Amino acid sequence: MTAVENAFRWARIQAVRHMAACDQTGLRWSETTITELVTAHTSRAVTVVPFTQRAEALSGADWVWWWVDGADAYGMLVQAKRVTVARSRWNFDFGYRARGAARSQRELPRSTAAALGLLPVYALYLGTGDYRRWERCSDVHRSGRCLHCVKRAVSLMPALLADELFVSDAASTYGWSVALEDLWTRPTASAPLIPALKKQLVPELSDFLQNRQDGTRAVARSMIDRVLSARSGQFSAVSTSVASEHYGNHDQLGPVFGDVPDDTGHWGLRYFEHTLNPLRHTPPGYVLEITTGDFNEDRLASNMPGNVAGIVVVRVPQHE
Ligand SMILES: [Zn+2]
Repeated sequence: MTAVENAFRWARIQAVRHMAACDQTGLRWSETTITELVTAHTSRAVTVVPFTQRAEALSGADWVWWWVDGADAYGMLVQAKRVTVARSRWNFDFGYRARGAARSQRELPRSTAAALGLLPVYALYLGTGDYRRWERCSDVHRSGRCLHCVKRAVSLMPALLADELFVSDAASTYGWSVALEDLWTRPTASAPLIPALKKQLVPELSDFLQNRQDGTRAVARSMIDRVLSARSGQFSAVSTSVASEHYGNHDQLGPVFGDVPDDTGHWGLRYFEHTLNPLRHTPPGYVLEITTGDFNEDRLASNMPGNVAGIVVVRVPQHE
């Protein structure tokens, strides 16, 4: 296990211990505390730059996460949401509107993410396995204290899929999200593609979606695979327009995939572009500054929207 993998595992263990201790005392653990535990305990293997001048004033703050390896970079804007389990119903309250806020918290991360060229993502805090009553997590679910269930205490889901109507129980939550510490696990199978979409893929994108990926590309696959899985369950027809090039020539600074299908599904949004544009050959300048240690926190913070609490940069473990 690499140092990064160890750090994420340790962070999850700390988060689950805290959740269990709160459950025993009858306390309701908070999103803010779990976010602190995860960032603090991963920080021994990843780079964490908190905007300390801001953190206190913010509740429900977003964090910018960049996943980088030697070849590519993938950026996310992450907002935490805890689950509330009542019998078999799981509730996330994605549309929570902060008191006095003009825009709901759901709109905020999306517009901030778009402005920064990031994928909006929810960090789902799912509590202990006991709290979730050890409902079947996946095909590899084990009876007893299933490790795969335990890992799910901190999971990531593309915000595009965050809809209380559809994400309302164990099966939908597990199906459309991935454990944080499994994010870079190489996908064993092809992405769930409906046949009409398969025909629209240019060769590089087809290769990306149908062959095993490693490192940062495995992280991007873990997100697009969930989106495509949700898409394959929708009944709207696939747009038949041929994939169009939205971003001009392939340049080293732009998205890795310039040529993607236009399909919008029932979201009314070009979801390939939405999910894959944050995959770039080179991360933005502020990420390079952070990785070389040559940055000024105040200047970084002043260039970020007010709801961003800090930046995390992870060098993704690679297997090959
Ligand atoms: Zn399980």
